[in-house]
Amino acid sequence: MDARTFSTNSVTNATATRYDFASDNTAGICPEAWRAMEEANRGALVSYGEDAWTQRASDLIRALFNYDAEIYFVFNGTAANSLALASLCQSYHSVICHERAHVETDECGAPEFFSNGSKLLSVNGEGAKISPESVSRLVLHRSDIHYPKPRVVTITQSTELGTVYSVGEVRALGEVTKELDLALHMDGARFANAAASLGVAPEEFTWKAGVDVLCRGGTKNGLGVGEAVVFFDRSLATDFAYRCKQAGQLASKMRYLAAPWVGLLEGHTWLRNGRNANDCARRLAEGLVKLPHVRVVQPVEANAVFAEIPGPVTQELRRRGWYFYTFIGASCARLMCSWATTYAIVDEFLADAAAASASYGA
Ligand SMILES: *Cc1c(COP(=O)(O)O)cnc(C)c1O
Repeated sequence: MDARTFSTNSVTNATATRYDFASDNTAGICPEAWRAMEEANRGALVSYGEDAWTQRASDLIRALFNYDAEIYFVFNGTAANSLALASLCQSYHSVICHERAHVETDECGAPEFFSNGSKLLSVNGEGAKISPESVSRLVLHRSDIHYPKPRVVTITQSTELGTVYSVGEVRALGEVTKELDLALHMDGARFANAAASLGVAPEEFTWKAGVDVLCRGGTKNGLGVGEAVVFFDRSLATDFAYRCKQAGQLASKMRYLAAPWVGLLEGHTWLRNGRNANDCARRLAEGLVKLPHVRVVQPVEANAVFAEIPGPVTQELRRRGWYFYTFIGASCARLMCSWATTYAIVDEFLADAAAASASYGA
């Protein structure tokens, strides 16, 4: 099955709800990942990650980062983040995150649960980004035993508001965390979008910039299931396999988690997917800013567009079949593009948005 065909066919019925912009996890599996899955579905293979597909996928991730990292494949991002953070913390430690971070707002307390109580300490900052100053302020204002001891800073790349930390910004956080004896974790659910946006090699804004552990997103990049936990500092991965198993995150038929990564990584499919999503978001934003009554309210640096759209215009778009969230990340519409979004779909949405906003103003 070709996922591109699937996404087009699914919308031929004009009255069906269209989830194209609701999230980047409403898209299907990209054809390259699907083909690798099919190829992996031949014969008997050793289980629990001892197979050649898992080896190949891990080696491809190491090659991607040009680093001999330790790799684990888990089912989803909540598990990747919370198990990675738990491996960095004792129960009396704390994790510094942005107040809009997925770990804070969308993981149902999993980071606290899996770490047996490590507290998340949230800070604010423009564009859902954490500044080095806010980290040092938070760490240095208390050092007594009554306060949970800061141990990790976690940043999201690209962020929950569709912005991207520059290489320099990650480096500055790398420096401040090393100075303060903290680890630096990166939630890379949209890692590919960040890489496509920055246009630099992945190593430049990960281990070289001071990132110790990365949750490298697969699902939003074109897989059906799966994220990779990448330990650049292998000493932090002690017993991580046991954490995965205990948390129900060890796939017995691991080849089905691993093989799609091979399809995604070989031939730079991952980067093309990320770039396509970003390009579509840029086109969408460029179209939206031309409409009366509509305001794009965040810089569009990755694959998200945050826009203020009047209620009646949103309702008209919904009536025309488009579904998107109006409460995620900020109190306005969030429009996400994915590997599967096309300029044609963007233009169809823009035409409907233009019609809806013209009739609102009339
Ligand atoms: C989607 C996403 C995740 C992963 O979410 P799961 O539903 O647990 O797979 C993690 N972080 C961010 C920023 C995300 O957008």
